[in-house]
Amino acid sequence: MLPDIKELTTEQLILWLENRNIKPYRAKQILQWIYVRQADTFEMMTDVGKDTRKSLARHFSINRLEKARTETSQDGTKKFLFKLIDGKYIESVLIPEKNHYTLCISSQVGCAQGCRFCLTGRGGWVRNLTKGEIIAQVRDVVNDLDNSKRLTNIVMMGMGEPLANYSNVVGAVGTITDSEVGLGFSDRRLTISTSGLVPKLSPLGRDTGVNLAISLNATDNKTRDMLMPINRKYPLEKLLDACARYPLTPRRKITFEYIMIKGVNDSEEDAKRLAGLLRPTRAKINLIPFNTFEGSDFERPEEHVILTFKEILNKNNYTAVIRQSKGQDISAACGQLSAKSNAT
Ligand code: SAH
Ligand code: SF4
Repeated sequence: MLPDIKELTTEQLILWLENRNIKPYRAKQILQWIYVRQADTFEMMTDVGKDTRKSLARHFSINRLEKARTETSQDGTKKFLFKLIDGKYIESVLIPEKNHYTLCISSQVGCAQGCRFCLTGRGGWVRNLTKGEIIAQVRDVVNDLDNSKRLTNIVMMGMGEPLANYSNVVGAVGTITDSEVGLGFSDRRLTISTSGLVPKLSPLGRDTGVNLAISLNATDNKTRDMLMPINRKYPLEKLLDACARYPLTPRRKITFEYIMIKGVNDSEEDAKRLAGLLRPTRAKINLIPFNTFEGSDFERPEEHVILTFKEILNKNNYTAVIRQSKGQDISAACGQLSAKSNAT
């Protein structure tokens, strides 16, 4: 199997061309063919010289992800199970909103963070996705849509911890947001969600302009230690301090995700403490009622408990929304992705 050309940076492609005495501006044409015109072969690149096309085809492939299975939820959410080149599986989820789609993509096969409430975490870490595999989740789904303009928002909230695969994630973000030789998504519409790898936050703010979401999920270290082992390394005070210093352009906010788990983190005291903790940061809050899965230890709180929690945050001048995860009937909701394939 030839290497996928999507793994190369623009600079690497230019260098490869120059080594063959091909003008560097050809790189732009080639990349536009791949991302803007969605070419599947080098042969299609008719404005690139024949010899160059042949040479490219001898050295590279332009891979698409193999769709092992697509499931559609009653609410219209689509879950794609992709089979990777080494036989591993990942999932991406396309979520219909009122006038547009949001695409939720994965950054790793499995995840090493082992959060107690997350099915992906249960299976452990298998491997990082390559830059090309991350980009391909977006490129391939766009290619399938009747109207590609309708996909406006991308969230890296699928399988894996994006900041534990930093360089591939940032490389992919570069291509996804490049309006000239990439997929042309606005970085304001791309959100990276992290469990809180503190040392990577400031580089992320420097290297990209994406939105940041933090999976907070608890308001004291004891509870967070229990739910999210990463908290033992980077406890709440360190995480929130890094958030307060995160570079935000005017009017942007950090999203804090808070899974609501019955009897664990859903008290009124928690709500008040959360309001206090987030004070130094420009924050908005997504409350995500816990999604169950087979073998999970937790339950979601009753509706009125969630509403009271939200009202306390609103009274403290926070925007807090309750995110009812979509696609639950096909296990496509937050925390339900596992890509255990019984696909074939
Ligand atoms: N690893 C990253 C991104 C993927 S997890 C992170 O942790 O942020 C994406 C989101 O799904 C996180 O906010 C996580 O808290 C949430 N999640 C995980 N398991 C869940 C569950 N069982 N119910 C509801 N949300 C869950
Ligand atoms: Fe990994 Fe995120 Fe799941 Fe935690 S919540 S195990 S960091 S995918």
